[in-house]
Amino acid sequence: MRAALFLVGMALAASAHSQFRLPSLDVNRLVDTVKNVGKAVKDIDEPEEISIGRDVASRLLGAAPLVPNAGLQRYVNHVGRWLAAQTERPDLPWQFGVLDSPNVNAFAVPGGTIFITKGLLDRMRNEAELAGVLGHEIVHVLRKHHLKAIQKGAQSALAGDAMSAALKDRAGPARDKLISFGTEMYSRGLDKSDELEADRMGVVIAARGGYDAYGLPSVLQTLQAMSAQDSSLALMFKTHPAPGDRLLELDKFQETLDAHASQAQLADRFLRQIKTPATR
Ligand SMILES: [Zn+2]
Repeated sequence: MRAALFLVGMALAASAHSQFRLPSLDVNRLVDTVKNVGKAVKDIDEPEEISIGRDVASRLLGAAPLVPNAGLQRYVNHVGRWLAAQTERPDLPWQFGVLDSPNVNAFAVPGGTIFITKGLLDRMRNEAELAGVLGHEIVHVLRKHHLKAIQKGAQSALAGDAMSAALKDRAGPARDKLISFGTEMYSRGLDKSDELEADRMGVVIAARGGYDAYGLPSVLQTLQAMSAQDSSLALMFKTHPAPGDRLLELDKFQETLDAHASQAQLADRFLRQIKTPATR
């Protein structure tokens, strides 16, 4: 709950001091604006996607710092990059970070930055479960779920010129508004269909990486077994469909899951890494 409040508080604070003026409404201007909106949406290229993601990530990191354990961070990066290498966007600057938060959550930022909380890692039993969760987050990046939601939302908040300015001028007020909107999205969540797609494709990525495909379903079962009143779950439950609904959806792909169920779980390696005290 603490992280949720931080995120909401931060988003409100950021939008309170970003001041920007809407362009005056004359007809020519309106036509230009409409044209620019279309252009701006289509034109968010990969470098811009990565740069928007970096700015959003640094604001999110202001709310919860990374766990000061280089060994653990290296391990999660190793698993995450291995999985990302199996995808159609292997060359993004993928980075994985463990946030020092007791809350149970994971999220992806456009361009290839993925965070998982220590609270969620502590509830996992093996590397296949970690791979399942990272696979889910990797899909959000591959399919540009957050980027598209930021674009869609920013269009109503920013007129066309401001949207172009937000992409061009990284220090201007329009950029600040765009990044604030992006940051705020992490306390609201994506569409349910994006989440279910991330589950379906995420188990495939984990299986491609050689892991037991039941890693993600197994984490969802853990979440389902926890009390819905548990405050460490508040943000996760607010931003994702209920674990039971996600399990039902994955059930439709049981054959695929079963075909990769005997693959690696790597419980020993996982537990050794998770329990090892901080190293530099
Ligand atoms: Zn998700």
